[in-house]
Amino acid sequence: MTLANAMELAPLGGQRFRFDAGTLCLELLVTGGEGELSKWERLHTPADLTAWIPHSRAGLGDLVQVSADDLAATLRVRAALQRLAETAASGSRALSGADLATLNEAAAAPPPVPVIGPALERTWASPVTGAQFLSAVARDAIEVFGGPALDRIRTCGGERCPMLFLDTSRPGARRWCSMDRCGNRYKLRTRRDRHPAG
Ligand SMILES: [Zn+2]
Repeated sequence: MTLANAMELAPLGGQRFRFDAGTLCLELLVTGGEGELSKWERLHTPADLTAWIPHSRAGLGDLVQVSADDLAATLRVRAALQRLAETAASGSRALSGADLATLNEAAAAPPPVPVIGPALERTWASPVTGAQFLSAVARDAIEVFGGPALDRIRTCGGERCPMLFLDTSRPGARRWCSMDRCGNRYKLRTRRDRHPAG
């Protein structure tokens, strides 16, 4: 598995690990959420979102200017994505119409505008607005949820691990959020079960 797009995560009181969400829209889910997930919340202010975006695969660097409204919209889209991804990962195709409408609304905004500079470098028309960033996230989600990738959305097989990812491996057999974390725990556990005395 390529880790080119992996993000480095540092869970509260836990060990750092690298996580490849497989696609942009699911990367947003590692920033926190509602209910149980609120203890992971990283996006408290617009500046938090500006600081997080360069860690995502959006490729927008630190060009994004986020307003308070943009942050609120991002949290709404994130909550919708969380529910949609959990439903899809469970094997159900009864995706909430209201959550799909939230994606459609965000995707209707114009996405970031690519520009090419004199040294043939590719960048973005600056500033990029929070709504443009969110449009890119929602458009990615529509690609994923509206196509064959839908069958590749998975929940980590680790015990009580809520991480959701898109399995982009060729055989489609990815089970863990990270081999360094849940994959390793599973290996250690099965080894212990096989050699209880050791
Ligand atoms: Zn896991």
